[in-house]
Amino acid sequence: MIRATSFAGKSVAVFGLGASGTATVRALLAGGATVAAWDDSDASRTAAIDDGVPIFDLTTAQWSQFSSLILAPGVSLTHPEPHWTVAKAKAAGVEIIGDIEIFARERALASPDAPFIAITGTNGKSTTTALVAHILRHAGYDVQMGGNIGRAILTLDAPAPGRFHVVEMSSYQIDLTPTLDATVGVQLNVTPDHLDRHGTIENYAGVKERLVAGARIACVSIDDDMSFEMLKRKTQTGRACAMSARQAIAPGYCLLGSEIVCANREGVAVKLGNLAGLRTLRGSHNAQNAIAAVAAVRECLHELGKSSDIDWQGALASFPGLPHRLEEIGRIGRVIFVNDSKATNADSTEKALLAFPSDVYWIVGGKPKVGGIESLRAYFPGIRSAYLIGAATDEFSKTLDGDVAIVECGTLEVAVVKAAADAAVNTAAEPVVLLSPACASFDQFKNFEVRGEAFRAAVTALPDFAARGRA
Ligand code: ADP
Repeated sequence: MIRATSFAGKSVAVFGLGASGTATVRALLAGGATVAAWDDSDASRTAAIDDGVPIFDLTTAQWSQFSSLILAPGVSLTHPEPHWTVAKAKAAGVEIIGDIEIFARERALASPDAPFIAITGTNGKSTTTALVAHILRHAGYDVQMGGNIGRAILTLDAPAPGRFHVVEMSSYQIDLTPTLDATVGVQLNVTPDHLDRHGTIENYAGVKERLVAGARIACVSIDDDMSFEMLKRKTQTGRACAMSARQAIAPGYCLLGSEIVCANREGVAVKLGNLAGLRTLRGSHNAQNAIAAVAAVRECLHELGKSSDIDWQGALASFPGLPHRLEEIGRIGRVIFVNDSKATNADSTEKALLAFPSDVYWIVGGKPKVGGIESLRAYFPGIRSAYLIGAATDEFSKTLDGDVAIVECGTLEVAVVKAAADAAVNTAAEPVVLLSPACASFDQFKNFEVRGEAFRAAVTALPDFAARGRA
């Protein structure tokens, strides 16, 4: 646990008592602060009391006593309207920050040069963060990973020289972290998302930009216009590296064929690992993530004066990937089974269909999003059959009708059995049974993770199934 020593002797309000909120309370208490913790939900308050968290009714509190409000990132700061705690804190002149700001202040006090890689973007944050941590661990470094992935940041070990903190940050978390000061900041991409919380795409991109603007070195993609603008601005005021998964660039990090390279101004390129045949980094979206991870690690090692002559290929090839994101579970004979349950909209499923352009037995459906799967029409020729599940069945049947063979299955379990049987008689080198639902899961499952686990269970139960690595 990281002790919040910079709050010693202060009175601090904490709102939102999920995993990161309770970790924050513990870190503040351990650092010597007095804590007033609250949540709008009775159930969360009760659970917190059972956990030993000091509950204090913030609705009636005298707010001038607090030095800070530590807000959970899911609570609205500005849009659609500020949460009531935000209004009260502002009225009393109390600063509003998040748990990663507490981490940043502890690092500044205890070990300001401790390596810290912060990663943001609309898509690919978790994959890139996990890959950065994996590459560093593979090279033998002490790595702490958390934030928006895995563990709450204040449950990690404290910053120390030679210990790398690798932290995924959502736009909400950046909004609550004014003094981030990452060694390396990574900006992957920006597409319209979370506009309910940020108002406009400009506000949303502006929040993301703070992460790279405040970093000692920024690694920024140039593959979308807004990120490219961020790179140009950073280049004027600080140190920045360009990255592209779409074009050769010099200077910068990019692909030459399937090889990740770093090219200098003269175009001389250092090879940093080949993505060909790497099954956990399939698709051009993962090329963007892999380039970013390699760039972040390499730049950070250079900044620390350490050699970047590490086994890049071995690190990339041994990356286990993340569950539910184009996760290859295993195979029956030549047929592979891929769990992409995280694809809760058509944009994400597009990435899967780009990665698997032919001989796909596609399990699709759930609670449909606006627009459905119409935008995926260009990929229909690569789909042998679509196995429809859940509430989207009628709508998706109409979209697919005439272009793709349709099998209405109702449930995921039925879809897995039928898709596996059909794929088994395909003579292609590697037919794919792909769960990439392009829908939310809530009509049939608690969340996308539960849906992905149900897929895994159904696939594993098939006769002759061999898990990945045991084929
Ligand atoms: P995040 O943490 O930002 O949600 P993940 O790494 O968990 O990102 O990936 C979630 C989904 O986003 C993936 O299943 C894939 O469909 C899509 N995705 C991943 N990386 C990228 C990328 N670099 N660009 C666009 N889409 C991506």
